[in-house]
This record gives sequence, structure tokens and C-alpha cells, in this order.
Amino acid sequence: MATPIKTNRLGFLDQELKSLEEQGFVWRPRTLQSEQRARAVFDGKEVVNLSSNNYLGLTNHPKMREAAKRAIDQFGAGAGAVRPIAGTMTLHRELEEKLARFKGVEATLVFQSGFAANLGTIQALVGPGDVIYSEELNHGSIIDGCRLSKAEIIKWPHRDVDALRQLCKETRQKYRRALLVTDAVFSMDGDIAPLRELADIAEEFDLIFMVDDAHASGVLGRAGRGSVDHFGLHGRVDIQMGTLSKALGVMGGYIAGSKKLIEFLIQKARPWLLSTAHPPAVVAAAIAAIEILESPEGEQLVQKLWENARYFKSELNRLGFNTGASETPITPVIVGSSHNARQLAKRLFEEGVFAQEIVFPMVARDKARVRTIVTAMHTKEDLDFALNAFKKVGKEMGLI
Ligand SMILES: *Cc1c(COP(=O)(O)O)cnc(C)c1O
Repeated sequence: MATPIKTNRLGFLDQELKSLEEQGFVWRPRTLQSEQRARAVFDGKEVVNLSSNNYLGLTNHPKMREAAKRAIDQFGAGAGAVRPIAGTMTLHRELEEKLARFKGVEATLVFQSGFAANLGTIQALVGPGDVIYSEELNHGSIIDGCRLSKAEIIKWPHRDVDALRQLCKETRQKYRRALLVTDAVFSMDGDIAPLRELADIAEEFDLIFMVDDAHASGVLGRAGRGSVDHFGLHGRVDIQMGTLSKALGVMGGYIAGSKKLIEFLIQKARPWLLSTAHPPAVVAAAIAAIEILESPEGEQLVQKLWENARYFKSELNRLGFNTGASETPITPVIVGSSHNARQLAKRLFEEGVFAQEIVFPMVARDKARVRTIVTAMHTKEDLDFALNAFKKVGKEMGLI
């Protein structure tokens, strides 16, 4: 039986929680009771799942399962140490070499998560006296990395390269080093950063250029090689952060770049230095994911993902929904008030479709939405089922 805590030092949490509740900021996560698939069971109900980041369906791929099991038999359940001391196994090295070849860079370094990769890298590279030009819709892990670095943070407006150039003109010369950092694919809107123009600005103003490929890994570029491959910017981006957690179906983040950069991060990136290495099963499954992407199957999966994304987006538009500026498999259905977004998500779930509502403060107050993410695993029937539910509920709520 649980022993109740007898002190009341955390009594203030009642008030804090109540205040969150009143503002509508409380998470009550649904429970997934099946595998993470296109049709999955959440809270006892089978639904068409439009909420996972399992873009290519790799979380359940037979080759990944097999690789994870083999690694457990051969190397055990855990790494038993941090990477710099005794936790770097042959598997970790193999993964980093494979990733470097896949990305077409000199070297990579794998972190426990994409979050840790952003945090550790930004914090290591810049500090007091330096400046970070950070796109206003950057992911929280970039924002936290920027804050930890103690560098000056200058935000620039979403995808506005002219505003960025102007800010650089006005401020760049006041600082020592400068870092330009942006998401490649924005996770709430599904639009893509103008990386070519940003690469030009980085050259013009001598900015270290870092791109977060969390939602681009396995999605953009040849066989999912990412945004740099998509735009043909090889050699012009200093730091590519990627994730193994989303399309690659496992868990982890990595930094891809020069040998020098990786050597430096090994000395300086705190999450990598101070937190235990990935267990063998995770690393082996990630290796299998890259092997799948490099095989003909990988190209097919990415193609299917895009086919599904294009179909779903155009049908939502045809029904009269506002999908904003989305260009990727992330398609928001923008409905305005947070009340509308909550109601739409709730009714969709009742109709057998799971799409998460996204409200302030994750997006602007008047831009609340339901976010949909299609995967390569969805069949045409799944997508049509979801579209019918959107049509029915959209009409019922007067949204279309
Ligand atoms: C999900 C995400 C991350 C974090 O990646 P994890 O591997 O899940 O920790 C970082 N940046 C962006 C833009 C993301 O969407």
C-alpha cells in the first residue's frame, strides 16, 4: 500500500493544478493499449490513429523487432555506463558510422533523445558574448538549449528571411560567435523552413547554421535523408540534428556534421557525457531502421507516406477545412478557438478518429487546431474513414 506523505510542503500544488485546470492547460494522456499502428486501441476504443509520429510504421517492423531481440541476447538489457566512460558499445559505433554514411557527413554523435541532442549541442557551442538567432516557432528543446547557453537570444518571425536579414544587419557585429537555428519542418503547422535563403544569410553574416530535422528525418529527402538532402544543401549546413524517435521508430537523437564538431561535442555535450547510454536493443533497432531506409523498401515507404499526405490534405481542403501552410504529412485543421478545437477532437474520437487538439500556448490563441499526421501505414480506407468523420463533425459544428 502507498504511504501518504505526511508533510504539507507541496501543498501549493493544489492551487497550481487548479489554476492550470481553469486555464485549460491540463494534459490527461490517453492510454495506448495496442501497438502504435494506423488503427490502434486508445482508452478501450479502436480508432484511426492520426496522432503518432510513426511516419513509416517502423515501430512494429519485423526487422526492427528481430534486431532488438538479437541485441538483448548478445549484449544484455542495458549499457551499464555513460558513453564516455564504459557505455560505448560496438553497436553505438556501428550506428554512428551507418548514420554518417546515410546522411553524407563526416561523423555523427547519437544522444539519448532529440531533446538531449539539441540541449547539449547548443549549450556547448555558444555562451555569454555570443548570439543565437532563433526562429520564433522553434521546438522547446531548442529554446531550452538556447537558455542554458546564456548567449543572447534574438527571435525572428516565422519564415521571414527579410526580417532575419535586417536583424543580422543591426546586431551581428555586437557579438562574438553567432548561431542560426531553425526547425526544418514545423511540428504544429507542417510547413517547411526556407533553408536555401537561410543558408545564404548564414554565409553573409558568418552564422553557424543548425537545422532541427526531427520531423524531416525519414520524411524529407531521398529515402528520408532529411531537409539538407531535400534542398541539396550538402556542405552548407554546419549542424544537422536528427531524431531516431519519430519516423525511425525507436528513440534517440543525433548530430551530424564534421569530425571536428563531433570530437568537440564528445568533450562538451552534457547530456551525452552525464546520462547513461542507450540500451543495446534501442541501438540495434535504430541500425535496422537505417538499413530499411537504405533498401528499396525505404524509398517505397517514403513514397507511400507522401502519397497519403497529399491525398489527405487535398481532401480536407476540398471539404472546406483550413489546413494553413502545411506542406508535409503534418496537416493542421485550424478552427480558431480552443473550445472549437477541443470539441472537434472530442467528437472525432467518438466517431473513431484520434487527432490531437493543439491549443494556446502551443499555438496562438486564435489559431487553435486539431493536428493530423498520416503515415505510410494508413490505407485508403483508413483515410476515407477519417475524412468522413471530419465531414460529419465539421458540418455538425458549422466549421464547413
Ligand atoms: C520531437 C522533437 C524533438 C525531440 O526529439 P525526441 O527524439 O523525441 O526527443 C526535437 N525537435 C523537434 C522539432 C521535435 O519535433
